Amino acid sequence: DMTSERQAMVEDIRMQGVRDERVLEAMRRVRRHVYIPAAMRGRDAYGDHPCPIGFGQTISQPFMVAYMTQRMEVTPGMKILEIGTGSGYQAAVLAELGADVFSIEIIPELAQHAARVVRAEGYAVQVKAGDGYRGWPEEAPFDAIIVTCAPAEIPEELVRQLKEGGRMILPVGTGVQQLIILERTGDGFREIPDIYVRFVPMVKR
Ligand code: SAH
Repeated sequence: DMTSERQAMVEDIRMQGVRDERVLEAMRRVRRHVYIPAAMRGRDAYGDHPCPIGFGQTISQPFMVAYMTQRMEVTPGMKILEIGTGSGYQAAVLAELGADVFSIEIIPELAQHAARVVRAEGYAVQVKAGDGYRGWPEEAPFDAIIVTCAPAEIPEELVRQLKEGGRMILPVGTGVQQLIILERTGDGFREIPDIYVRFVPMVKR
């Protein structure tokens, strides 16, 4: 059941600096390989690199999933919005940590695949096919928002759907992208620039 591959993956992530034991334990539990569509599931679902999931998209590399999850400081019961469901793997890691996860994917076939896998794995993640720039107003506000595709600029509508004191983590930029941690304050927001990263672009429809 790939338990030893997962253990090795987690040790690798730990060596790269993610030390939050709850995050590491969640990644030890979530069966990463099942989120990769069967036709694309090579030997290497647990290597520290992105893997293709079809439609020109990829499942993010394990380190990036762990790093972003750690920066979100997830606690049980937190209401989280994810933009860019992709395979459903990141959503499953958040759900494993006890979060209430709502996730939006623009490619309907991927949304369907992800919804099916997370359900089969026993996670109550809500997946919707749609445009992430609109967010999920019916479920707002959120304690945290994670964006796993890169917009050119911070999407204003998503900031509006964040609770006061809530945080959003997202890659921003075209070409060179930087991870930004944004904290919503009483009268606006505070931006904390973080590491340089590489994500697929957040497409405009
Ligand atoms: N979190 C995913 C990684 C997804 S890759 C995982 O764990 O597997 C980024 C995803 O963002 C792609 O599936 C892409 O189709 C999606 N995406 C791009 N632009 C989007 C938009 N405007 N709204 C919602 N999803 C978008």
